[in-house]
Amino acid sequence: MAKEDYYELLQVARNASDSEIKKSYRRLAMKYHPDRNTGSSASEEKFKKINEAYEVLSDPKKRSAYDQFGHAGVDSSMGGGGGFGFSSENFSDIFSDVFGDIFGATGGRRKSRAQRGADLLYNLELSLEEAVAGTEAKIRVPTLVTCAQCGGSGAKKGSAPVTCPMCQGHGAIRMQQGFFAVQQTCPTCHGSGQQIKDPCRECHGQGRVQETRTLSVKVPAGVDTGDRIRLSGEGEAGESGGPPGDLYVEVQVKEHPIFTRDGANLYCEVPISFPTACLGGELDVPTLDGKVTLKIPPETQTGRLFRLRAKGVRPVRGGAVGDLLCRIKIETPVHLTKEQIELIQTLDASLSGGGSHHSPQEHGWFDGVKQFFDKLGL
Ligand SMILES: [Zn+2]
Ligand SMILES: [Zn+2]
Repeated sequence: MAKEDYYELLQVARNASDSEIKKSYRRLAMKYHPDRNTGSSASEEKFKKINEAYEVLSDPKKRSAYDQFGHAGVDSSMGGGGGFGFSSENFSDIFSDVFGDIFGATGGRRKSRAQRGADLLYNLELSLEEAVAGTEAKIRVPTLVTCAQCGGSGAKKGSAPVTCPMCQGHGAIRMQQGFFAVQQTCPTCHGSGQQIKDPCRECHGQGRVQETRTLSVKVPAGVDTGDRIRLSGEGEAGESGGPPGDLYVEVQVKEHPIFTRDGANLYCEVPISFPTACLGGELDVPTLDGKVTLKIPPETQTGRLFRLRAKGVRPVRGGAVGDLLCRIKIETPVHLTKEQIELIQTLDASLSGGGSHHSPQEHGWFDGVKQFFDKLGL
């Protein structure tokens, strides 16, 4: 089976810049993240492929090898590790990018066995009502937890990791190459300085195992799309007893059939009949906490906004409660009977007799059009 082209997988041009590749990767990784596509093996497969493609195209050496020789140029350098999973380092990499300085600088990462676990991002969909009132959400997060068998050490019960004999625990070895002494990551312990002689069967020496955790998240009232709730220490377990990462729950408010939200204000469209628009009346409009009566004054035009004070949203960061703004839409009557048509014709004749008096907008509009044509000399 031919492997898919890495550039196509990441949806970038072959001459794309590093930042373009990174940007596209980030978008796709978010989209196909297993956490967002629970149970979809197609998404998971895609997620792995995207990670594999990024692994190559983000590395200048691998990228140029791939450009020259295609998949044959990079397959051997992939390390055969496989398992670009949910917890791959790539992923924690893009998170640190998304969150920027929250995570601090990651430069000069020294490999020690005890590494902090990766941070996780969970996308939580809420209805508008839930977001406005606040809620307690149960979420299921696939993550890595400390292995219960070995307590995270990775060594079989009753044994412990030993100091790496190759590097005496330094994690690096010096090699003489001609005139130069080169320091290299220890090939035996891969820089950790320790060696597990007898790996734990449960976690295969990783100290962590895959598990789906169910967590309860308190969502405060007034949150909006993009708001993040941080659950400290609920990210992935650290490696070899390192501290756990954090879990970030990002809110995504679903579209509402009636209301649209803009900050603290809510908007809704209110259709009214032609007679109500002419004569005025009262009608019930919905708010998030029940119905209220809206008075429609006579001669109301379409598009007019009515403001219902404090019927909007109380913002999560404090501040005044927003308003509900109702936009009037006048409905044209349909399925008219012969009798109704005659009545409207009678009405029309009567209104036309009054000239511009009865239709301020239309006549204003026609005046505008006339001036426009006059200017053009038509
Ligand atoms: Zn274990
Ligand atoms: Zn070593």
